[in-house]
Amino acid sequence: KKAGWAIVGLGKYATEQIMPAFAECKKSKLVALVSGTPDKAKKLADQYGVNSKNIYNYQNYDSIKNNPEVDIIYIILPNSLHAEYTIRGAQAGKHMISEKPMATSVKDAQAMIDACKKAGKKLMIGYRAQYEPFNLKVIEMVRSNALGQLKMITSDHGRILKPEEKADQWRMKKDLAGGGSLMDIGIYSLNAARYLTGEEPVEITAMMHSTPNDPRFKEVEENMTFLLRFPSGVIAQCNSSYSYQEVKRYRVFGSEAWLDLDPATDYYRHTLHIGKKESKEQILLKEGNQFASQLDHFSECVLENKEPKTPGEEGLQDLKLMMAIYEAAASKEKVKV
Ligand code: NAD
Repeated sequence: KKAGWAIVGLGKYATEQIMPAFAECKKSKLVALVSGTPDKAKKLADQYGVNSKNIYNYQNYDSIKNNPEVDIIYIILPNSLHAEYTIRGAQAGKHMISEKPMATSVKDAQAMIDACKKAGKKLMIGYRAQYEPFNLKVIEMVRSNALGQLKMITSDHGRILKPEEKADQWRMKKDLAGGGSLMDIGIYSLNAARYLTGEEPVEITAMMHSTPNDPRFKEVEENMTFLLRFPSGVIAQCNSSYSYQEVKRYRVFGSEAWLDLDPATDYYRHTLHIGKKESKEQILLKEGNQFASQLDHFSECVLENKEPKTPGEEGLQDLKLMMAIYEAAASKEKVKV
């Protein structure tokens, strides 16, 4: 049996990455769409073989409750809307998955967790990198001490924010995005530092900069750099930017070797190297479809009543830490967490 999925928000990520991935899923099928644009929804429904009676809009969304074909609802809206649509979906009796960042405030993230608990439904966050083979390999190597003792991590995520692109317009607005490069892509460095160490940071410092008079950064930050100290002594040094050319990488330094994954959190083309003494070798792995793996993971959790690997609590923790990073940057002081 396959779990039936509804997608809320038919924007760039939903239509270019998630919807095409259903073709490679073994446990997930796309059965419903929720959109504010009927023509777009109809066209996509035809393309993906979704019954036109299963097209909803933001007003009649709650009536999805009466549709037994839908088991899971995936929220792929601008960040600040994740909370409302996750809560309404849980109240309609469906299992919920929300895109990252889970929400734009700790309060909203907690309300999402509470609503799903109250409804007896599962909640997952779309941390696709945790379902991606190269990242899983690096985690396994770090855990098995293939690098010796873990010492440091560096991670960079950057891209150019383009006001002419629709998907970037809401990203310039604080009320919809919650923040700038940190919330959008710095979160990948933060989440990676946590899944690579398997620890939670205890101390944070940060610096933030936005170019004065650049209209893109009137409401949200351009550049953020932050340091995380972990209980084992590992330090992670992370950068995010909305104004340098695209990079999505990390390097993990151990006492015996380092690992370089560049790109680390892209959609495809992950490239892994290990460096030891004078040698640097590429580690070849088969590329996997992380989108399909993520979808099937949650379907399996729902069908077999298991807890997802990246539950709401994982999103809440990142949100708490991002708030601490903003606090550290604003106060120019160390923040203990
Ligand atoms: P997008 O703008 O392309 O898509 C957002 C959709 O929401 C659009 O279809 C838009 O019409 C709709 N929408 C509904 N109400 C809206 C409102 N009030 N204002 C603006 N749009 C509204 O953006 P996107 O890049 O697809 O991002 C959507 C979500 O997915 C974000 O939370 C983002 O962080 C996340 N995302 C995740 C990844 C990933 O790799 N996991 C990649 C890209 C985006």
